[in-house]
Amino acid sequence: MSIIKQPSAIDRRNMLKYLGIGSASGLAAIFGGVPGAKAAPRETRYTRGVPPVKIRNVKAIATAPQSANLVVVKVETTEPGLYGLGCATFTQRAEAVVTAINSYMNDFCVGKDVDNIEDMWQSFFVSSYWRNGPVLNNALSGLDQALWDIKGKRANMPLYQLLGGKARFAVDCYAHADGKTAEEVADNVLKFMDQGFRYVRIQLGGYGSLQLAQHPDFKDAGFGSSTDEFMDVNAYVHSVPGLFKTVRMRCGEEVSLLHDTHERVEPNDMINMCRRLEEFNPYWIEDPVSPENMNWFRQLRASTTVPFAMGELFNNNNEFVGAMADHLFDYIRCHLSQIGGITPAMKVARLGEFFNVKTGWHGPGDVSPVGHAAQAHIDLAIWNFGVQECIPFGEKLLEVFPGTPELKNGYIYLTDAPGLGVDIDEKQAAKYPISNNAGKWTLRARNGTIIRP
Ligand code: MG
Repeated sequence: MSIIKQPSAIDRRNMLKYLGIGSASGLAAIFGGVPGAKAAPRETRYTRGVPPVKIRNVKAIATAPQSANLVVVKVETTEPGLYGLGCATFTQRAEAVVTAINSYMNDFCVGKDVDNIEDMWQSFFVSSYWRNGPVLNNALSGLDQALWDIKGKRANMPLYQLLGGKARFAVDCYAHADGKTAEEVADNVLKFMDQGFRYVRIQLGGYGSLQLAQHPDFKDAGFGSSTDEFMDVNAYVHSVPGLFKTVRMRCGEEVSLLHDTHERVEPNDMINMCRRLEEFNPYWIEDPVSPENMNWFRQLRASTTVPFAMGELFNNNNEFVGAMADHLFDYIRCHLSQIGGITPAMKVARLGEFFNVKTGWHGPGDVSPVGHAAQAHIDLAIWNFGVQECIPFGEKLLEVFPGTPELKNGYIYLTDAPGLGVDIDEKQAAKYPISNNAGKWTLRARNGTIIRP
């Protein structure tokens, strides 16, 4: 007796339907066309039941509901009601990004297919000839995220499903504890621990202990601008081990402690500081050298066992490749809204898996909820996730961005809405205009020398 099941009448009908036999287009496909009949439009499997969608308009939406300038790209399509959102935030030069989007990206994109994200990324990246700088990279990040948002909406799936599904149930995130004294920082760490946080970043007096710095000589000399800030690097370097000691004594060993040096310290000072931090078991020290000092990394790595997160100021994935292959740092630290969006971030994240380098995307207040969601979708889907920076999402932010991820017990939870899952209320967004903050971020040593971040 044959064990091969004979096709039933229903199976045969389905097979004919699948092959297209019985329709004019099916016969045309098989026999090379019906004489006198018009060729039917070619239908691919992925578009079956979903008409082709083109880009109709690309625009920037700038808003500052929680004081930081945010820029969001909105990609509108030929399908009524279908649009995508992406974060293009470069908070320090937001108006330049708005111009790049409205004046150049719109003309480049209109009429193009929303489906081909990689092609759109590569073609926009080289379309200016001179490339790979902030502003255009930010615009491209927004476009890329918006196209992924559209793809998820068309597939009726949250983005993490398109990236492979969940590798964990939620995204661990870290809070920011600050204070004027080490004791005050420890108090704040304990508060976060009570809220369920297992990871806390600790800073004394802000980045580089700026709020603690004494009155500098360059101000007395009338050098620089009145808004320029002063960093006493020596005092900072000596304060950090004491900060870790106090917090460890008060908060115990269980909490993971992070610290950001913001690239502001000389490499040798950084080596000495990190050696003193080893006994306090930091989770990571962030951006230990400036991009110009990357050649010091090998010596830094050989001198201390402290883990490093690196790359907040990187512009391009290529900057990670050699350093990863040499195991120079442990966490990928980049701004998803600057590196070019989800497409390149997935490439660098997957590359990290091969070198045991985990992710720790940049996620403070100058990332919009759209960008926070984009990062969290990646965090859910990849294996080599480390920890995610996050901020409290305040009331105004939630009004402007319905669907913002939820923060609970030290985890970020996404909505299961299709795409990125975050929307924007343009009327609410218009209530919070951005400001020009060009004068900020100037930091000087005692004698007035600029300190590079
Ligand atoms: Mg940083």
